[in-house]
Amino acid sequence: MAALEELQNLDLEILESRKELEGIPENLKGQRCDVGRVGEMLERERARLEEAIQWRTDREKEISNNGDLLGKSKGKLQGARNEKENKAAQREIDTIRKAISDREEEVIKIMEAIEQYRAAVEVHTKEFAELEEHLKASEAEGKKRMADLQAVVDATAARRKGLASRVPADMLRLYERIHKRLGRALVEAKDGKCTGCYMELMPQMYIEIQRGTRTFTCPSCFRILMFKESEPAESAT
Ligand SMILES: [Zn+2]
Repeated sequence: MAALEELQNLDLEILESRKELEGIPENLKGQRCDVGRVGEMLERERARLEEAIQWRTDREKEISNNGDLLGKSKGKLQGARNEKENKAAQREIDTIRKAISDREEEVIKIMEAIEQYRAAVEVHTKEFAELEEHLKASEAEGKKRMADLQAVVDATAARRKGLASRVPADMLRLYERIHKRLGRALVEAKDGKCTGCYMELMPQMYIEIQRGTRTFTCPSCFRILMFKESEPAESAT
């Protein structure tokens, strides 16, 4: 029983290490996903900024073209030979001036938007860089932790073999079968109860478990039951 208990302690330790070992890549995958999402958002914001800048450039080009047209219309006005031509040129000039003033208003609006977009991109670029930095650190840390855990798991193989050889074969088989299913396969019987599921044991069974005459499994949770003498510190108080 003592060897089996030691074996179980080792197995539970291994189980813990394996669980942590498997959890690390999962955790990193989740982090990578988050960083990727922020990166995509940043890309969209950058595209939006570029689009706005392009839009402003286009409007400015229109203003410049209208400026040229205005010059030509002014020429026409000066060269007008009669009232009709004079009026037509004046109308042209008014239309062009209106177009220029409209475009200028649009440029002011888009410049405000550009400032906002630029500020957002700046903030999120910084955040993204920090996230990437953090991910890199987590990856390095995870890699190191995984190597450490793997070393622990590898190192236990020889120790486990030694302990297993001290446990009777049929007992070992029973233990391994339960361990595979429940993890903790060996539990203490205490105060007349199974400490695996806290079911009350039959008094006769509990007495026999205390005597250690033969092996019992809990009728409810099927774990192997063992009895431990209470600690001296407990009986002293
Ligand atoms: Zn039980």
